[in-house]
Amino acid sequence: MLIGVPKEIKNHEYRVGLTPSGVRELVAAGHKALVQTQAGLAIGFTDEQYIQAGASIASNAEEVFERADMIVKVKEPQPVECRLLRPGQVLFTYLHLAPDPEQTKLLIESDAVAIAYETVTDERGGLPLLAPMSEVAGRMAIQAGAHALEKAQGGRGVLLGGVPGVAPAKVVVIGGGVVGLNAARMAMGTGADVTILDKSLARLKEIDMVFGGRIKTLMSNSANIDESIRDADMVIGAVLIPGAAAPKLVTRAMLKTMKPGAVLVDVAIDQGGCFETSRPTTHQDPIYMVDGIVHYCVANMPGGVARTSTQALTNATLPYTLELANKGWRQALLDNAHLRNGLNICRGRVTYQAVAQDLGYAY
Ligand code: NAD
Repeated sequence: MLIGVPKEIKNHEYRVGLTPSGVRELVAAGHKALVQTQAGLAIGFTDEQYIQAGASIASNAEEVFERADMIVKVKEPQPVECRLLRPGQVLFTYLHLAPDPEQTKLLIESDAVAIAYETVTDERGGLPLLAPMSEVAGRMAIQAGAHALEKAQGGRGVLLGGVPGVAPAKVVVIGGGVVGLNAARMAMGTGADVTILDKSLARLKEIDMVFGGRIKTLMSNSANIDESIRDADMVIGAVLIPGAAAPKLVTRAMLKTMKPGAVLVDVAIDQGGCFETSRPTTHQDPIYMVDGIVHYCVANMPGGVARTSTQALTNATLPYTLELANKGWRQALLDNAHLRNGLNICRGRVTYQAVAQDLGYAY
């Protein structure tokens, strides 16, 4: 199969659908790869590296879409890309269709087979192609928050780990899923004093086991949140209620009870945020102040470390890309129910129930 990798065209998107080592695996399995020139240049993957891995280089996106049997990308296709898709061509990428009627309509019209990373499942009920970006965002939350704690950014002027003779900072993580666990692990590594709150007791037990008691766990309820944020230097918002907007767990009134210059990092901002005072920010202008509290609410955190994110994404997607390439999409989806859950649009029809329901299509 010929796998095409166009250069991402969304503003400030530097990630790329496949790394050179991903290309090498596909080529070793007997497939061909066609990568648009400079697709990975911004994050240090040169055309030469792709060529060495066995790819051919296309001079523009049109050539990639024209020739490839399957397109592997990162972000949802922009309208100009949707119009380049061919009937029967496979598109494997993040789609996030439910809030995007225009893209859904264009993908239906394209007559292509659109498989979304974010709805592929695994046997433990997880979302294996979403998890790598949550891992990145969780770990990054601590480094972003640590920077925001510096005096020049409006923060309290506190070092996370303290130094001998000076107490470490207190980090409170609300939500102990993939983001929360990765944030907690990073914070613990700096020597900070870390508490995780989750409303799942089973999850808290698991975290207690994993960290051998080195991280405190607390049931997430309003009394415990109220009390723990009073004392916190940094609060990470990492909750998720699948398919719903994030609950507002920290209200504006509660900010007044916090220490001036404390930092809120709202990773859940892509679901509306779990602090009442959160609003989405960008990597160019990531922080703002409300009532003396520093807010960091970047909606696409993994984009800031595009090289690491690309490598993590290819690690996770490659087995599925290989399965699709080896068997063809029909057989691959027949054989693998988890991959089949990724199918959102197939040859002119919406095939994912939640998207059909939200956007009023027959299912
Ligand atoms: P996850 O499903 O792995 O974990 C969510 C956790 O939240 C679960 O353990 C759940 O029990 C817990 N939870 C739900 N309600 C809660 C409450 N009221 N109090 C405490 N805990 C509660 O999800 P995840 O992958 O960790 O993602 C977390 C959030 O981060 C999501 O909104 C996701 O979209 C977002 N995210 C944002 C970025 C970004 O760039 N900003 C990147 C990746 C993920």
